[in-house]
Amino acid sequence: VLLGAPGAGKGTQAEKIRKALDIPVLSTGNLLRQAIAAGTELGKKVESIIDGGNLVPDELVFGLVAERLREPDCARGVIFDGFPRTIHQAEALDKALAVDVVLDLEVPDDVILHRMSGRRICPNCQASYHVVDNPPRVEGVCDKCGAALTIRHDDQPETVKARLEVYHKQTEPIKEYYRAQGKLRTVQGQPRLSDTVRLVSEALGVAL
Ligand code: AMP
Repeated sequence: VLLGAPGAGKGTQAEKIRKALDIPVLSTGNLLRQAIAAGTELGKKVESIIDGGNLVPDELVFGLVAERLREPDCARGVIFDGFPRTIHQAEALDKALAVDVVLDLEVPDDVILHRMSGRRICPNCQASYHVVDNPPRVEGVCDKCGAALTIRHDDQPETVKARLEVYHKQTEPIKEYYRAQGKLRTVQGQPRLSDTVRLVSEALGVAL
């Protein structure tokens, strides 16, 4: 499980860990954005919630997670990115499967606000970039699939502030939940991506 504020770098680290362990990343944010892009019933229900920076009701998220976990590529394990986000979700996850390790990526709020202003994502394959800290090889173009990069709706500064508030109130208590289980490993996010990757690698005992 990857824990951390929006923009802490969970998605970027998840991608490194995915390559090293060869298990899929289950990002509830990406699944929700895909539902919105596809115009599904679920997508219509959640669009305004996400744009306001609030959390989608647990039951809707559970449905998405359960469906994704049934796919065969999840049989050897998954990397959760953005789930669980509430104590209730963490408890539900514990009932469904055994969580091995929870990696907590700590980044101060002011750094997050700066980072989010430069974030770009690929609407096609969900890869994430930063215009200064983690730029694509060709400006505005996804390295992986060649699609034009976009700015997430919910990365506007006002929405980011709301998301940080939601994080501190509803998600951060999960740290204590996992600390009490002895599963929490904390890493301070660094200005340079390569430095954070090294610390994550040490914390997990996995070469990244
Ligand atoms: P993310 O891409 O992880 O930053 O998620 C984007 C948005 O999707 C969040 O601000 C929430 O509105 C929603 N979301 C993602 N994961 C969850 C979750 N586990 N529970 C509730 N809402 C979620």
